[in-house]
Amino acid sequence: MTKENDYEYMRRTLERLAAEGNLRRIPRLTHDGRHVTAEGRRMLNLSSNDYLGLAADTDLRSEFLGTLTPETFIPSSSSSRLLTGNFPVHDELEAELARLYGREAALVTGCGYHANTGILPAVADADTLVLADKLVHASLIDGLKLGTARYLRYRHNDLNHLERMLHEYAPTRKRTLIVTESIFSMDGDEAPLGQLAALKRRYPGTLLYVDEAHAFGLRGKRGLGCAEEQGVIPDIDFLVGTFGKAAASEGAFVVCGRTARELLVNRMRPFIFTTALPPVSVAWTLFVLRRLVRMERRRKRLATLSDRVHQALHAREVPDLSSSHIIPILVGESSEAVLKAGALQRHGFYVLPVRPPTVPVGTSRLRLSLRADLTDEETASLIKHLQDL
Ligand code: PMP
Repeated sequence: MTKENDYEYMRRTLERLAAEGNLRRIPRLTHDGRHVTAEGRRMLNLSSNDYLGLAADTDLRSEFLGTLTPETFIPSSSSSRLLTGNFPVHDELEAELARLYGREAALVTGCGYHANTGILPAVADADTLVLADKLVHASLIDGLKLGTARYLRYRHNDLNHLERMLHEYAPTRKRTLIVTESIFSMDGDEAPLGQLAALKRRYPGTLLYVDEAHAFGLRGKRGLGCAEEQGVIPDIDFLVGTFGKAAASEGAFVVCGRTARELLVNRMRPFIFTTALPPVSVAWTLFVLRRLVRMERRRKRLATLSDRVHQALHAREVPDLSSSHIIPILVGESSEAVLKAGALQRHGFYVLPVRPPTVPVGTSRLRLSLRADLTDEETASLIKHLQDL
């Protein structure tokens, strides 16, 4: 067999991505609170998940730093939770989460990607059929690919389609697991959690898994997510939230039953085979969480700003199916999305194009991540420039 140059196939892949306008590069940025500077231009950051502005809040950081001493600033756990990496603060955070959600147990993981790629293979065995929304996040899809369960995708938020699948397959399966996000990361629309919970009750042997990554901290009176807002926390068997977004930290969690947690501790590979989160990071998460539950003003502000942008888009009849602070502006071609993002950047808004494989081919878009610390003037200026696109 004739061998080609070892790296030739890699180069060909990169050339193809470049030709499609889908080549990714890591942006060089400097950060200063709500702003980033890229290529000499200082812009408002509308591409991060710092939805409440907490990661940009230096007062909060100062207050936390005031609680630390060289003894309590523990930058590494130095091992897995199952060896010597479990510190009291890990247990404390989990107890606080279980208490807030009114559930038996919680488990903290290194990040949301670990949560989704670890929980699904652990709980969905070969006797389980998984029914997942067509638009769930890559980490959930990877979790399904890693496991032994058969999985099918139902049309996005189409509960008739889901029910037809349940009707057809549930009677022949030991159990069924429905998987969805609450606020969808790329479209900003929401799953009807109340209806999903009702469906679960109609089909015994059905479990419900909800990823609240983009709603945790933002929805519900205490910011626990859409499940709190819709009063369905007890119906959700696996409620996943992440700390790297509104909570301005890192890591993730799942709230669930005691038995489920014990199974995860024994079977969830990204929990078992990785170094536990550093205690100082977990302490920061707990510090933020205890304040987050009382941040109704910031949550309301984000909702008000989001409404303003939605109304402006509706007035111009720009397609907008989002109902949240994540607002995609559909463009279509990747190269066009790159040009339009560049135009907004020139006006001082750091907005990025989202392209395949993150979104389906032909649906490249700009993704606006609104933040609660935008001023009225900044929001008005953003709306004006969106209208000029
Ligand atoms: N779930 C969803 C819906 C996400 O959007 C993301 C990341 N953007 C994750 C999980 C992964 O979370 P993490 O960044 O903590 O790995």
